Amino acid sequence: MRKISGMTLTIKDILEVLRDEVVEFVDFIGDGEDESFNQVVDLFSAYEKKYMDEYESLSNLPVISEDDINANFATIKNYYPEYYKGHALYKYREIMESLVEMRCPICDCSFAYSQVTLDHIIPKKKYPYYSITPINLVPTCYNCNMRKNDGTPSKILHPYFHDFITFDYLTVTLEVNEKEPTESIINLGFTELNSDDVNEINKVESIKANIDLYKLRQKYTDIINISFSKLIDEFQKVVSIQNDVYSINELKKYFKLMDIFMDSNDYNYVDEDFLRHLCIVEITQNTHFLSCLAEKLNIFVDYDTQIVESMEKLNNKIKESPLYNQSNTLELIKETLPMIMFIGLYKFTDKSLNLINYRGVYQKEDSVFKFKPEEQYLNSILAHQVFSINESLLLSKVQPKGQAGTEIVIPTGNKNFCILLVNGLFNIKSQKLNELEILIKKLLVKTVN
Ligand SMILES: [Zn+2]
Repeated sequence: MRKISGMTLTIKDILEVLRDEVVEFVDFIGDGEDESFNQVVDLFSAYEKKYMDEYESLSNLPVISEDDINANFATIKNYYPEYYKGHALYKYREIMESLVEMRCPICDCSFAYSQVTLDHIIPKKKYPYYSITPINLVPTCYNCNMRKNDGTPSKILHPYFHDFITFDYLTVTLEVNEKEPTESIINLGFTELNSDDVNEINKVESIKANIDLYKLRQKYTDIINISFSKLIDEFQKVVSIQNDVYSINELKKYFKLMDIFMDSNDYNYVDEDFLRHLCIVEITQNTHFLSCLAEKLNIFVDYDTQIVESMEKLNNKIKESPLYNQSNTLELIKETLPMIMFIGLYKFTDKSLNLINYRGVYQKEDSVFKFKPEEQYLNSILAHQVFSINESLLLSKVQPKGQAGTEIVIPTGNKNFCILLVNGLFNIKSQKLNELEILIKKLLVKTVN
């Protein structure tokens, strides 16, 4: 919600137009026009002042009762249609609309997608005295006006008085559908607003009430779901013309390219573009989603056959020429397995993996020789598990950007490790890949230690 500045119209301006241009209004004022008109102006101006003074607690304003001496003035609400197009007050409606810069001050969405309406902040049904008072009329999108209906929250956020940056509080999460990742569900939430400060607590309460009143959760959730399905459609069009394997890094790159704004700081409003940006941020950060998607896309690449053939070749080669040292073992593995881009033997010392011997492509970077992995990665290595990862750490350092690949780490004992960088996105749960890893381990253990 954004504050609207520059609102200077008063109920007096409105009543004067009605007196000068609307015939029925003269009947409303009654006999003795000038005197009666001044009384009406005084009465409604007093209400207007009360509204301005008590804008923090508008719901406490008195509701009209039958025995109120001025009850007949409640019919002032019959003049509200004068704000419609072609009627006496339409010019004032245009002035109000010009204050909001083509965006709904409640939901932030562009008016390009919606009709502009005037929303009674406190409803005219319950508070007829404020039915034509400009300060109670806020230009909003049709959607917000309709969703709010006649609701009045206990704490009202009012765009002529308050400011609240909605997008500071939004969060997006993906519920990944592992079998059909493109049919995952995206959810939007508001971060829990908490504070110990009394003023802040009140503000937070008003914000929450406002979100509920205008049903903003539903509105943004609808938009984000549309954004997600459009993004997936666009993505599928892009990949349908490529015929390649996809790594997580590649997929990230594709989705990032679809973001018109690269930086969150470019946004000022929660609108369709911003919600799409949030979608992309969540997609590119959700490794689980990307790996499911990568697996789905690479489903037709038969790597298991490639692995079986490679193992056969490797076994035959060993029979032909026995292995006698480390270099010749690495050479043999690298030559026999066409998908291996790099095979490196590392020793773990001083919290780093230090390269002892290698074969294959690499970029001349210190990070390859002295590889300092993150703790989580390191723990897995030290636990002596053979494991493969699709989102590679070393791989990202040695490989041209965006190329598909899998990284395999094989512990060979005595704090020695073999890291294989394999071309192509292998199914890391594949039994065949596991067998290949065990075979390589068997060969290396003999010569490494
Ligand atoms: Zn709106």
